[in-house]
Amino acid sequence: MNITCPNKSCAFPQNPSRDGFFRRKEDSKSIQRYRCKACGERFSSATFSDAYWQKRRRINGTLMKLLSSNVSQRRAAVFLGVSRSTVERRVPFLGRRCRRLNELHLKKIAGKVHNIQIDDLITKENSKLKPLTISVAVDEKRRTILGLEVSQIPAFGHLAHLARRKYGLRKDEHNHGLTRLFRKIAPLAAPEVLVKSDEHRRYPYFILKYLHRAKHETFLSERACVAGQGELKKLRFDPLFMVNHTCATLRANVNRLIRKTWCTTKDPLRLQDHLDIFMYYYNAVLLPQENHQC
Ligand SMILES: [Zn+2]
Repeated sequence: MNITCPNKSCAFPQNPSRDGFFRRKEDSKSIQRYRCKACGERFSSATFSDAYWQKRRRINGTLMKLLSSNVSQRRAAVFLGVSRSTVERRVPFLGRRCRRLNELHLKKIAGKVHNIQIDDLITKENSKLKPLTISVAVDEKRRTILGLEVSQIPAFGHLAHLARRKYGLRKDEHNHGLTRLFRKIAPLAAPEVLVKSDEHRRYPYFILKYLHRAKHETFLSERACVAGQGELKKLRFDPLFMVNHTCATLRANVNRLIRKTWCTTKDPLRLQDHLDIFMYYYNAVLLPQENHQC
């Protein structure tokens, strides 16, 4: 790594000199110190870490695995021997880190994805009266998750009336979520990509706008095979198997997406962090392992 002086008003930030070590108590690592020859600023290689000032950086890797393996934040805190607030604060940090890693990871398949499946998964914020939708895009051949975007939607069906009475009008931000999703997948898709989805009324507009030469195939939604697992279909051959299976994997591994659970989302932004963490773990750790075993 090319170390430069972090002092923004420094005239010659290049070539700081080494200035001994210190032992970081938290993870027993010895960290190189530096001293800038120009301005005298003293810093260390830890200054540039994204975990700078964290007191429990030891938990970052394990916490990522636990959050992607159906463990609640409270239980993760018990396992790791840290307080609940530490775990709570670490979720947005890991979310940011994993979003960066996801971007790097997906760059490898930029322009190479020929088959994409898209679907939306409904979950809730505290109450079913405040639903959220997660727009999911999956590479049909590689099984890689290409994007997960959370957006709030108003309650629908027989709850709509009750929800309006209790919480007032709720904004529909699904279009914003789909815009974010399609902006992310547009550079990944090959020019003549084939997109498969159900007959959701909003998809054709976005496919036309962001994937100009794409072919779009739609399929009727089918009945579920197990009560409560709407994602696994009662069909011999499910044309949308890959995206349905990914949604079922999400529900099984991100604990707040399980139906009828104690754990719910209190803040849609934290759900987005959690999903980005899972996406990184799934794409970069679980999938390569499974592919290796076949
Ligand atoms: Zn300097």
